[in-house]
Amino acid sequence: MKQRQVHILNGVPASAGIAIGQAALIDTRKIERFPKIRITEELVDDEVQRFKQAVKTSENQIREAKTQLESHNVVKEHAFILETHLMMLSDPSLSDRVNHLIKNDLINAEWALRITLQEIEEDFASIGDEYIKSRVDDTTFVAERLMRNLIGKEIEGFHILEKSIIVSHDLSPADTAMLNKQKVLGFATDVGGPTSHTAIIAHSLEIPAVVGLETATASINPGDILILDGISGVVIVNPSENQIAEYEQRTRSFLNIELKLKEKAKQPAITRDGHYVKVQGNLEFKEEVRTVLDHGAEGIGLYRTEFLYLNRGDTPAEDDHFFAYKSVVEAVSPYHTIIRTLDLGGDKLNLSLGKVQKEINPVMGLRAIRFCLRETDIFRTQLRGILRASHYGNTSIMFPMVSGIEELLKVKSILEETKHDLKREGIAFDENIPVGIMIEIPSAAIIADLLAKEVDFFSIGTNDLIQYTLAIDRGNEYVNYLYDPLHPAVLRLIKNTIDAAHNAGIEVAMCGEMAGREIYTPILLGMGIDCLSTNAFAISHVKEMTRKINIKKCQSIVEHIFDMKTAAEIDSFMNKEIKKNDPHFFDLA
Ligand code: PEP
Ligand code: MG
Repeated sequence: MKQRQVHILNGVPASAGIAIGQAALIDTRKIERFPKIRITEELVDDEVQRFKQAVKTSENQIREAKTQLESHNVVKEHAFILETHLMMLSDPSLSDRVNHLIKNDLINAEWALRITLQEIEEDFASIGDEYIKSRVDDTTFVAERLMRNLIGKEIEGFHILEKSIIVSHDLSPADTAMLNKQKVLGFATDVGGPTSHTAIIAHSLEIPAVVGLETATASINPGDILILDGISGVVIVNPSENQIAEYEQRTRSFLNIELKLKEKAKQPAITRDGHYVKVQGNLEFKEEVRTVLDHGAEGIGLYRTEFLYLNRGDTPAEDDHFFAYKSVVEAVSPYHTIIRTLDLGGDKLNLSLGKVQKEINPVMGLRAIRFCLRETDIFRTQLRGILRASHYGNTSIMFPMVSGIEELLKVKSILEETKHDLKREGIAFDENIPVGIMIEIPSAAIIADLLAKEVDFFSIGTNDLIQYTLAIDRGNEYVNYLYDPLHPAVLRLIKNTIDAAHNAGIEVAMCGEMAGREIYTPILLGMGIDCLSTNAFAISHVKEMTRKINIKKCQSIVEHIFDMKTAAEIDSFMNKEIKKNDPHFFDLA
């Protein structure tokens, strides 16, 4: 029996809010003990059949979860996540790999499934891209469901009796969807990241969640009282009465602030001295458009199109692109949608097609436009889809990972050829579609003045820019303490980019994570950024920070911090100033 003592667990905040209640433990752990049996050739067909039946049962269960999700007004747009799981189940490459092992290695279906899953997880682990890595969870959820159905272990219905905080190793999107919102106060899980689908659903359901707690299931007893703080990522187990009183007070002020921000979400972000800043949303799935717009986005500043290429056995056809983009562009109009072309590496794309070619250093390898310039057919297909969609609303096109002028000229000439083809075929599109690039490689930031003459806009991708500038792999736990947007080198590259854009008379936005953190807003505005594009939940916060500040004061802050030598110095200065909480701080100095 675990100790009923006060203790604190630290994890990753996945959905903001505070919950206080009893713990309900749910066992969703990976099934480690399953039969490993060598079979004779006569039993091969039986095992293949058993696996086929498990796929069918899993499909039925996921369909049922999907129906439940669709009947829920707030989260119905996330039913597509379960659609992805259904696609994975019907993807022949999964069944083919399992059946191949059953037939060739003469092993039972459970064993073959576990080996296949391990292979897939290893393939994903070798990928440098955080976004793709987080998608491995989906494969694991699907495989675990298959395993439970194979060995006949019941899948828990999660019948929660009272209002409780769910504690589990992990929760699949299907599990999350099946939970009864009236009875669930919050989620605490051992694993998972802030961009996992479960976190997305928790966000939409507006249920506080903390993930990545590592030892939650090991150190929490059923019935323990928990304070779950989804804002800072902390779970307090068996808190004192004083702690409960303190958090009840915090909950009231959090709800108050959120309510006020929600009411103002659709109002523009204008500084106290009348300077307007455009705030847009980032999008990964077309189904998220409504949520992003409802949170006050004035258009889509970054539509990542990678998802279209994943979890399928082939590359998307022109119409797959066209219909996906058209639905977004139409929903977002009259605002603008910036569609970013494919930012996957060759290995990642092959991986989704079941053929793995590993690169030693994929983050610096054949990815994004480097890949597109090699596989021009795949690139042209996407460009045709984007151009056709541009006929249906305000659309811009954006190229990722540009490192120099030659590359940019090449992608632009392919775009021109594609436009020419469509024109010849009599297909409608916006002939003046704006073309922009992401500034996310230091070389591009340094020669921003040269690049600015070639494009209509810039968007600064700080996620990659910081990683490449400081030479740190953000997925590497040993060096990620060095990952800091306030490093003077990063700030100088951002400033150089903004100045170059303005000298050339073009707009410059930021769409990396840095754009969504309010503490950086005064610095970015002071440097002259025209637009901030961020995830749905940060939009109202960034807008509110903008309304509190004064652009002249921001400019003097920038002058001041540019004299500082370290990120720590700048960070402590910004924190002190913002924490003063003086509404007039940002007035003219
Ligand atoms: C970035 O690099 O900042 C960015 C927005 O692109 P991604 O996170 O998709 O690499
Ligand atoms: Mg990037």
